[in-house]
Amino acid sequence: MSALSKVVHARATAPEIGRLIDETWDWAQAEGPDSFEAAYLRVLKRDYDRATKLPSDFVGEMSAAASASMAAWEAAKKDSDFSAFAPHLEKMVDIARRQAEYLAPGKPHYDTLLDLYEPGMRRADLDPLLGALAEGLKPVAAAIAERSAAVSDEPLRGDFDERAQLALADEIVRELGFDFSKGRQDRSMHPFTTGFSLSDVRITTWTMRDWLPASIYASIHECGHALYTMGAPAEFERTPLAGGAGLGVHESQSRFWENIVGRSRPFCEWLLPRLRRHFPGKFDRTSAERLYSAVNKSGPSLIRVEADEVTYDMHIALRYRLETALLDGGLKAKDLPEAWNAGMKEYFGIVPSGDAEGALQDVHWSQGTIGYFPTYSLGNLMAGQLAEKMRAELPDMDGLIARGEFRPVLAWLRERIHRHGARYFPADLMKKAVGKGPEAGPYISYIKKKYSALYGF
Ligand code: MG
Repeated sequence: MSALSKVVHARATAPEIGRLIDETWDWAQAEGPDSFEAAYLRVLKRDYDRATKLPSDFVGEMSAAASASMAAWEAAKKDSDFSAFAPHLEKMVDIARRQAEYLAPGKPHYDTLLDLYEPGMRRADLDPLLGALAEGLKPVAAAIAERSAAVSDEPLRGDFDERAQLALADEIVRELGFDFSKGRQDRSMHPFTTGFSLSDVRITTWTMRDWLPASIYASIHECGHALYTMGAPAEFERTPLAGGAGLGVHESQSRFWENIVGRSRPFCEWLLPRLRRHFPGKFDRTSAERLYSAVNKSGPSLIRVEADEVTYDMHIALRYRLETALLDGGLKAKDLPEAWNAGMKEYFGIVPSGDAEGALQDVHWSQGTIGYFPTYSLGNLMAGQLAEKMRAELPDMDGLIARGEFRPVLAWLRERIHRHGARYFPADLMKKAVGKGPEAGPYISYIKKKYSALYGF
């Protein structure tokens, strides 16, 4: 990996690229700032400038350290023993600091790293968004905690044939618009989306025999990412404009389909006959209303990827607090589990029994990706904004979903988001799509309205 990363870096920083950018820059800008040519060069130049600031040896060191660190993380997680991973984390934090210093000497390191995942965003923009989100969600989580028995997920627990789960997962993503002539869905240890071109986009899902939502919602989530990638114009193929505006916008697409569509009342109406067909006898006495409440059960949890819509962003808030402290040096790597557990107690009132369920649960920090976690919350916020706008412009949105007519929903996202690829910074893309940059209000309203009705408060 280290050797390959140096080869890639040498190609990406070839002086010829810099020369070609210089030679074509004025011509491309003359095509207009929104033109394909100008946007192409803008993104290419950003990537090139960034790559040329990193010394080749450092790129190799970064890659080697990340490989060793991920292997150590995997072993440490298996043994639930953080101490074996601590020196690697310390090294990765140090590498992240040096990376930020190379990219933008003298600038706040976190801002520089955040910009790698969410172009154009700074902590000064992020803090008020995440703060508003936490303030808005806390009272909802507290109200739910007082009425946790009001909703049961019992219909989704039992014994569900895994081949039937995979067949259902294929059927769902096909109906949502996933084009199997340009991609495939397989099974993996952990769900993800990857792609090799605009016409080869691959998603994976997982199955849990005793917990049906795992496969259904992992598939819908990854399908949301894939639809975004598949929705770029053909002229973006093999250009830096393919692949989306940033990780927050990408996550807005996956979360939109997973939660705002997939966990809606009309979607449950559409889903129920399919559950009855794939799992004969299991859902005969379940109503759409009962299914709707079951897929929306909310409560404190230890594991981020299993968290519900109300509590998910509290998991992100904890990671944001910890990773900024690690980067600033206020928190030492070896003290992470203690800080993690204290944070879990504060946010959720529960503490993990071991590090595997605690400070070791996510892979991100072992890869040196600091500044990535907030993009998950940004995705939720943007999904809320897109839903509000879509609802105003597609008045029969619920009817369309209940009838399985997902094409107008997808077409709206294609028009507002997908067709632009990486042409704009995320905040500018949102301004064009909904008239405003990222804000927390619409998502909080959506959550309050939905969960107060579900839990009766
Ligand atoms: Mg995702």
